Order: sequence, then structure tokens, then C-alpha cells
Amino acid sequence: MQNFINQLSTVLEQKYILTKDEDKAPYLTDWRKRFIGKALAVLLPCNSAEVSNIVKLCAEHQIAIVPQGGHTGFCGGATPDNSGTQIILNLKRMNQIREIDIANQTITVEAGCILQTLQEKAVEQGFLFPLSLGAEGSCMIGGNLATNAGGTNVLRYGNARDLCLGLEVVTAKGEVWNGIKGLRKDNTGYDLRDLFVGSEGTLGIITAAVMKLYPLPISQWTTLVACQSIASSIALLNLFQKRATSLLTGFEMMTQESLDLNEKHFPHMANPLQGNPPFTILIELSDHESEEHVRQLLETILEEAFESHLISNAVIASNLGQANAFWHMREHITLAQAEEGANLKHDITIPLSSLDSFIKETDALMRDKYPGVRIINFGHLGDGNLHYNIAPPLGLDPKIFNESNEKPIHELVYAQVERCHGSISAEHGVGQLKLDDLRAHKGEVAHELMKTLKRALDPQNILNPHKVVSI
Ligand SMILES: Cc1cc2nc3c(=O)[nH]c(=O)nc-3n(C[C@H](O)[C@H](O)[C@H](O)COP(=O)(O)OP(=O)(O)OC[C@H]3O[C@@H](n4cnc5c(N)ncnc54)[C@H](O)[C@@H]3O)c2cc1C
Repeated sequence: MQNFINQLSTVLEQKYILTKDEDKAPYLTDWRKRFIGKALAVLLPCNSAEVSNIVKLCAEHQIAIVPQGGHTGFCGGATPDNSGTQIILNLKRMNQIREIDIANQTITVEAGCILQTLQEKAVEQGFLFPLSLGAEGSCMIGGNLATNAGGTNVLRYGNARDLCLGLEVVTAKGEVWNGIKGLRKDNTGYDLRDLFVGSEGTLGIITAAVMKLYPLPISQWTTLVACQSIASSIALLNLFQKRATSLLTGFEMMTQESLDLNEKHFPHMANPLQGNPPFTILIELSDHESEEHVRQLLETILEEAFESHLISNAVIASNLGQANAFWHMREHITLAQAEEGANLKHDITIPLSSLDSFIKETDALMRDKYPGVRIINFGHLGDGNLHYNIAPPLGLDPKIFNESNEKPIHELVYAQVERCHGSISAEHGVGQLKLDDLRAHKGEVAHELMKTLKRALDPQNILNPHKVVSI
């Protein structure tokens, strides 16, 4: 090990090799503080050549590498194990915008570019980069691609995978694969880009990417509406899809219980809909036509929804500040949960046609087996993506409750997900948190294929071992 540490200074400036405990500490835990690891060193390269040399050295010494971006991931993928033998490769110094190609409507960025910076650079050129999520001030595009992040605009623009046209990746051997191409069509055999997107640092290290840009919408209207049931919320979604088609850019659901928790920790974020209805839906329409056109369309659809008894109340944001406040209310649920203490998270997707039965049955089973639990259910309803989180009954210590109930609660939820032909990870990935769950729920053939890929691309198992899939 000492030999390896000594040789590191031949591939990276000494000041970017962190080995002291106090220097490594900020990189050793995840955002939820669920996983705390140890590392031999934290390395901060500034270009793909340095990444390549580091990986070659690690391969020679069989040292495992944990790639890391903003470490905002929810599944512990960017946190090392407890052995103290792995290195963390944090890409934050690789944060350059390499190119904005106006004609091609693409932006080429390095992996350590913070998502919000990328969005701002796009706006400066009159474009929209639509990937948007609560952690955008800290997460990085490499991490977004490695987790195939979703967020609030998937309904209209797709997830990180859909926004990516090309990648530069350092392989487990330390070779640099230059797939930096801004092509919307490329059928030259296997899609290597798609292999690395969503692989959570287990197949290669993403060092740069070509991402799609879109024309910046000039008008945006945001509304909060009250629904009495999940069935009417889905009927409302279908109505908006039919009438607003591609103008529909956001459709988020928040239950009464999740907004109560929000208000408890952030009293200024009270639900403007009186009486905090069972389901509050945040809807956003965006367009390149006049404000008036979109506003009229929104009002017409809401009128139809009232007449069909799909909604019982609605408030349209009168200005950008109010629209932002609606979105903050939605985004603060994650923060309110963190304030409240540890809970059991389930980031799941269910086909929209089964969502009503999933929620009714799972809620009933949960309340029957665990009386008093709080079901903090909210999410990107337009994508069928629920954050179906379980907090302990009031007054119970979350640590004690979770320790004894975590496994059976996950099993209950995931059995319901399977019954409904859903997925146990919609957008947060697998990391170390869901390693066993993936093995149990991916299906044997699919799981074996994943292992085959991992063995082929990383035969020494040095890239983020025991994350996603164990070989
Ligand atoms: C408040 C909050 C809200 C969130 N909301 C959402 C949401 O709406 N939708 C959503 O999808 N997620 C959400 N997340 C989760 C998280 O922000 C995303 O998973 C994000 O994409 C992670 O990016 P990161 O840079 O922090 O990656 P990290 O956490 O650093 O890493 C995540 C994984 O990717 C790997 N990795 C990182 N960089 C690279 C690289 N360059 N090459 C290869 N592998 C790499 C790591 O090894 C790890 O396995 C939220 C998180 C927070 C804290």
C-alpha cells in the first residue's frame, strides 16, 4: 500500500492526494449520513489523462476506486467501504465547459461540472438544459449520468440518459474511450454510451459528456390543485396530457402527510390550498408562445377538471416568485424528512394504471402491520415515480424503529412493487443500499447478464466493487 501511495505522486500533484484524516473526512460519508467509509486516499485529478494514469496505477496494484461527484446520491454509491483500502476519485476539479455548439444545440462538459452551473451556462446562450433536481446546487453531471438521474422535467425531456449524446470514459484498464460525439443518430453496433449511463461507476469513469440543449421556453405557468384520490390525480394527468400535450413539463404529487411534515419544519411553506387536501398536485406548463396563450390553455383545462370533479380547488401562481415557492414546497419535503430523522426510503416506479391499487393496498398493509407509521408519499407522478417513505410513529426513536423493521418494511413494499410490475429503483440507483434488493428483484437472467458485463469490463473488480452488482 505504501508503495502505491508513494507512486501516486508520479501521476498527480501531491497537494491533490489527500491522506490526512481531517482532509479525507468530508468525502467519506453520503448526503443522508447513512454510510460512513474509510479511504486510503482521496484523489482530485484535473483532466482525463490524470484519471487514466491513476486508474492504470490502481489496476497495477489492485486498488479499488470509488468515483465521486457531489456525493448527494441516496444509495451510498459514492461512499467507500470500511476496509480503508479503497481510494476515492473525486472529479470536482474537472469542471470545465469544453464547448457550446449553437447549431447542434449541444454542450460538452467535464464530469465535475455542477448541474446548476451547466443550467446557467445554457441560459446565458438562450438555451434550456432541462435536467433539474433538488440537489442541483451540489450534484455533478458525471454523478447525474452515472445514476441516470431523473428529477422534475422527465415527463417532457426524459432523464439524464435521454439528454446525453456522447461520453468520454476511462475504462478499468485506464484507457480513454472518446465517445464525445453530438449525434442524434448513431447505429454503429452496441451502444457503449448507454452501458455507462446508470452504471454508478462500476463499469467506467465518466470524465466528460455531450448533452442536449433545448430552446428556452418564454412562458411558464405553475398551478397547485387539490385532488381527493390518486385515481382522480391520474385522470387529471391524462387530461393534461391530452389537452396540453408537450406543453406539460411537470406533474408532481404531494400527500397531506408529506406537506404536514414540510410545514412542521418549514412553517413558511404552508400549503396555499386550504385544508391541505389528501393529494396536492403541482402542474407546470411551458411554451415558446405568449404568456397569454399558455394561461388560457391552463384555465380551460382546469375548468374542465372542475366540471368533471377531478379537482376540488386550484391556485395558479401569479408571478415567478410564487411559482418558485410552489416548487420549493415540493423540493423541501426531502429536507423536512432529513430534519425529522432517519426514515425508510423507497424510490419506486409503478405503471400509472396500477398506481391507485398500489397505494391503497400498500398503505393498508403498512398501517395494519405497523400501526402509527407515517407514510411520506410524494413524487414525480407524471413518471409513475413515487418516493414512498416510511417514518416511525411519533415518539419512537427512528434508529431503534428502523433497525428492527427495515428489512420487513422493504420486503413489504418491494413485494407490492413486483405485484404491480414496477421497479424498486426509479431514479436513485442501487449503490450499496439496494445491492441485495436488486439481486432479489431484477430477475435471475437479467442479474446474470449484469454480472457478465461487469466481469468483461472490469475483470479485476476495481471499479466501485460491491455496488450495484457483486461478482
Ligand atoms: C435534496 C436532494 C434531492 C434529490 N432529488 C433527486 C431527484 O429528484 N432525482 C434524482 O434522480 N436524484 C435526486 N437526488 C439524488 C442525487 O442528487 C442524484 O443521484 C445525483 O445524480 C447524484 O449526483 P452526484 O454528483 O452527487 O453523484 P455522487 O453521489 O457523487 O455519486 C453517485 C454515484 O455515481 C458514481 N459516480 C459519480 N461520478 C461519477 C463519474 N464521473 N463517473 C462514474 N461514476 C460516477 C458514484 O460512484 C456513485 O455510485 C437528490 C438528492 C438530494 C440530496
